[in-house]
Amino acid sequence: MTSRVPENKKVLLEIANNFGTPTYAYNSNRIHSQIETLRKHTAGISSRLLYAMKANSLRPILQQINKEGMGVDAVSPAELELALRIGFAPEHILFSSNNMTDDEMRRAASAGVTINIGELSRLRQYGKTYPGSEICVRLNPRIGAGHHAHVITAGEESKFGISVDQIDDIISVAHEFDLQIIGLHQHIGSGILETRIIWKAISVLLDAALNFPDLKFLNLGGGLGVPYRPDEKPLDMAEWESVIIKPLRKYRAKHPSRNLEFIFEPGRYIVAESGTLLVEVNTLKPSNDRIFAGVDSGMGHLLRPVIYGAHHTIYNLSNPDGVPRTYDVVGNICESADFFARDREVQEIREGDILAIMDVGAYGMSMASEYNLRPLPAEIMILENGDTEIISHRESAEEMIDRIYPELIRQKVQASTSPSRSNIQDRET
Ligand SMILES: *Cc1c(COP(=O)(O)O)cnc(C)c1O
Repeated sequence: MTSRVPENKKVLLEIANNFGTPTYAYNSNRIHSQIETLRKHTAGISSRLLYAMKANSLRPILQQINKEGMGVDAVSPAELELALRIGFAPEHILFSSNNMTDDEMRRAASAGVTINIGELSRLRQYGKTYPGSEICVRLNPRIGAGHHAHVITAGEESKFGISVDQIDDIISVAHEFDLQIIGLHQHIGSGILETRIIWKAISVLLDAALNFPDLKFLNLGGGLGVPYRPDEKPLDMAEWESVIIKPLRKYRAKHPSRNLEFIFEPGRYIVAESGTLLVEVNTLKPSNDRIFAGVDSGMGHLLRPVIYGAHHTIYNLSNPDGVPRTYDVVGNICESADFFARDREVQEIREGDILAIMDVGAYGMSMASEYNLRPLPAEIMILENGDTEIISHRESAEEMIDRIYPELIRQKVQASTSPSRSNIQDRET
């Protein structure tokens, strides 16, 4: 069931041939069209779009998103710093850091961005430090959803947000420090393809909102899913509009004095389908009843299959007409969990073939690590006009070690300029 064909498959093969593998390639047109779709379906209400930059914080992607007029949701001090340097206006940045420290809070406050607080103790600390100021509060509507238990970010067992049961406490802290709660926020989970569960959580927030007279916005989170599996359908955006946007318009009409703006902050939906990880098969290993196709990349470069059991379509760019066979496509990391796909039909694979691992634009490279000391993949943008731009090179093993342990560079130079013959000979014998 190799049902889907990558957009730009010719360009992708060229990229693999010209720049080698492993390489992440991103299609900027796809990012643009996703933003346009969201714009179109939110046009009916006063709304703003933020991009959850943890999904992918590659510089040109952030630049494109800034240019297209979206803001960002930043979840760590470095994300905040990067967003500011890219040029996002502070008023277009929401800072939603977890376990926020005093230093993080002060940095965000001095940058003039909106701070989103999900713990009562932090709200109290914020009130003490900045009495009389404005703040956004993240609620836990006690309804969660998502494509995997690990990405559900609300509900009874979730660490995120202040429970809607504690609204009285929020109000009393706000009174104590004269805080104006100008925003309520929720984000119930990720990869949601079912519109009605999103609405259920939103309606909890809408009810809660009636307790807060100073509100300027309601941030309804991200979580919009994309189809990864062949049997999954894309989110029906017309339905999304009628299940979510229409009732929001009604709510606003019912409370005309409250000039509320609605914010959505998707990450995955914007970038997931723009990204492809290009890998080369270097080892075919028939073993027992399986065929392992070993590639020059691994879980360090794409963690989603391992931690979420995520499905990513794999397409053989070098043999698109090959007869499909069943493979375990596995990585080069010393971990038995290291796989891209199990029991997966892919067009017949030969050693040397280039595979496209699809829909990896979100939570792919942004979760990557150098585990096993495998250097990170190169990253390449496919620009609007089809040209390609190298964003980051693939480090060689030597460059990576020089970066991690710069103090070893001199030793290496010494060693290579004055090789000790006797040592070499000793080793050889
Ligand atoms: C991660 C995150 C998002 C984006 O989630 P997606 O599922 O990628 O849309 C939105 N808001 C917050 C606070 C997040 O942490």
